[in-house]
This record gives sequence, C-alpha cells and structure tokens, in this order.
Amino acid sequence: GEIIQLPDIDSNLTKITLTDSPKKRPASSKLVFGHTFTDHMLTIPWNSATGWANPEIRPYGPLDLDPSCTVFHYAFTLFEGMKAYRNADGTVRLFRPDKNMARMNRSAARIALPTFDGAELTELIKKLVMVDKDWIPQDKGFSLYIRPTLIATQKALGVGPSSDALLFVICCPVGPYYASGFKPVQLLATTKYVRATPGGTGSYKLGANYAPGIVPQKEAMAEGYSQNLWLLGDEHALTEVGTMNLFVAFKQADGSVELCTPPLDDVVLPGVTRDSVLEVARDHASGKTPIPGLPADIKVSERKLIMKDLVDAEKNGTLLEVFGTGTAAIISSVDKIGYEGRDLIIPTGPAGMGAISKAMLDRIVGIQTGEIEHEWSVVA
Ligand code: PMP
Repeated sequence: GEIIQLPDIDSNLTKITLTDSPKKRPASSKLVFGHTFTDHMLTIPWNSATGWANPEIRPYGPLDLDPSCTVFHYAFTLFEGMKAYRNADGTVRLFRPDKNMARMNRSAARIALPTFDGAELTELIKKLVMVDKDWIPQDKGFSLYIRPTLIATQKALGVGPSSDALLFVICCPVGPYYASGFKPVQLLATTKYVRATPGGTGSYKLGANYAPGIVPQKEAMAEGYSQNLWLLGDEHALTEVGTMNLFVAFKQADGSVELCTPPLDDVVLPGVTRDSVLEVARDHASGKTPIPGLPADIKVSERKLIMKDLVDAEKNGTLLEVFGTGTAAIISSVDKIGYEGRDLIIPTGPAGMGAISKAMLDRIVGIQTGEIEHEWSVVA
C-alpha cells in the first residue's frame, strides 16, 4: 500500500488565544523555583491515526484528562528542562534548545510516544516565551525555566502503546539558584539504593526515573546531607549526583589537572550542561578558546570513576574539586561526601567554589545571557 505521512508539528499552524485575566506577577525576590507559572501554555495533541494536531498557545490552566489516561497508571510521561534569559535590551535567548529537543525525542521513542520535528517545537517555544516575555525578570541571575512535557492520554487501561498523546509546555520565572551566595552541597554516597541500572532507563528523561529518588533523598537529608551521590556496582562507580551530572577534578603527578566525568551509558543522563562543560574544557585545552581561570594544563576525560579514586585522592591531597552540573543551578560545588561512615572533605575555598567550577559557571552563564557571543545562545 501507499505510505501516508501523518502531519508533524507545524509552528505555522499555531492558534494563539491570549488570556483576558493576566495574573499578578510576584516580586522577583519572592520567586520560589517551580512555584510560579506564566499566563500562557502551549498544547499540541497527537493521535496515532491523525498525527500531530495544530499547536495552541492559550491561557495557563488545568488540563482536562480522563482518569483512565495511561499517563496516570503506567507513568507514560517525559519532560525537559531548559531556560530563557532576557537581557537589559529586552532580547530573549534560549540555550542550546536543539539539545533538549533531541533528548526529548529520544525519551519519547523509549516509551513508545510519538517523536516530532524538534526545530518546529523550538519555534513554538520561542513564540510562547515571547508571548510571556514580560514574565522573565531582567535582574541578574534570573531566567525563565521552560518545562516541555509529553504524556500518554489514551482513555483505556491495559499496558501497551498509547493511541493518544499530549505535548505541553509551561514556564516559570526563576531566580538565581543560590540567592545568597554560593552554597556548596553535601552528598551522601548511597549504597542502599540505585538510581539507574544497566539496561534500564536512567539515560532518558522519563518521569518514572524521578519519583523513586525522593525517599533516598529524604534519608540523605535526615543524615545531614542535601543530595544522594548515586553509585553503581561492587566497585561503587560514581554515576550522578541528585539530578545533576558529576564532575571531579584531580591533580596529576606531573602537575596537570584531570577533569573527569562518568561516560554516557545506560545510567547517566546526557546533560546539556555536562556537554557544555566538556566542550568548554576541551576547547580551552586545545587552545581554541582559552578560558581565564582554568588551569593551563588540563586533561578532559569521560571515564569510569570509582569511590576508591576519590578516597585515595582525598588522602593524597589530589582531590581538587567535585561539582554537579544541571540546567537549574548550572554548577553546584560539593564540599563533603559521606561514604561508609566517614566524610570526605573537598576544599571549596572562601568563594564556596573552586577555580574550575567558577570559571565554568562564568563562561556558561556569560553565553546564556548573551554577554558572550556564542552559537549556543539562540535569540527567540
Ligand atoms: N541528570 C539528571 C538525572 C537530571 O535530571 C538532570 C537535569 N535535567 C541532569 C543530569 C542535568 O541535565 P541538564 O544539564 O540537561 O539540565
């Protein structure tokens, strides 16, 4: 028979309905991460027989979903997290949206939800953030957190691929992650739980990966740590921290520095910030784009890291920095890791952040806000 191409997402077909009751915007200083939403949202329904329907930008509000929808029973939900920045002249920028779109499509394919043209969804996200651009605080360190989500909406029980889906995007104005200066985080190297296993879904941004992390985090907090350091296997290989990727800097015998992160495999989410840190470090090391503050002689590696590496380095005084990377905080320095009844102490200096962490943060934030011209920064 004839192959019929079902409609993909088409940003040219967007219907825009503006709210007639705009919300009162809270003062920037009152914003709590993820608690305030803008006036509008984007919705795009999908059906297996008719493809992607026309996108709609409409007033923010509850979704009308049947209780039988597969999302509620079998966790057919996946999401992205990205940010838009508005600078003093009013220009709004997204940071590497192509990366989020690629990861979202990968997540969708993993749970048999429909994929889509990522460039078209980026265009739609630009339209949405421009409709709500006055919600983006212009103060330094503030931004708009964007949450694209895809759920299965077939009205039927039974574990199987969904005939229907809904893609939606909502946005929250957010303040600087560390409102009052940088605060290093303390990790509990967790051996009781694993976040992700080989052959599992840890490298996809599925909702199902997150709920099971809450009890381990509560337990870590009860012991005085803020996040879990997720380990895997008998050697206690390091994978991720909380919901961030992990970097460790070691001083080498020849005086150079090794900046290290676990390789991308089944158990590590391919973070956009992780990729950015690696590229900044590699371009610095090769001399293509030297970054002030980074050690001149730096070696970048994606390799297996085990707890013994850290324990030995702490003992020898060669453990320089440990930090997490993610869209929310960009860089989070770590000053303590609880492991097998003892605390490893990592120096963070008076600034609360090591030299590599600080140089990376400045570089990436500079690009995100447009202070540094870079192809990663996409004007909306
Ligand atoms: N790991 C996990 C498990 C995450 O949820 C996130 C946040 N998306 C990250 C790493 C960091 O990814 P990114 O830099 O793309 O925000």
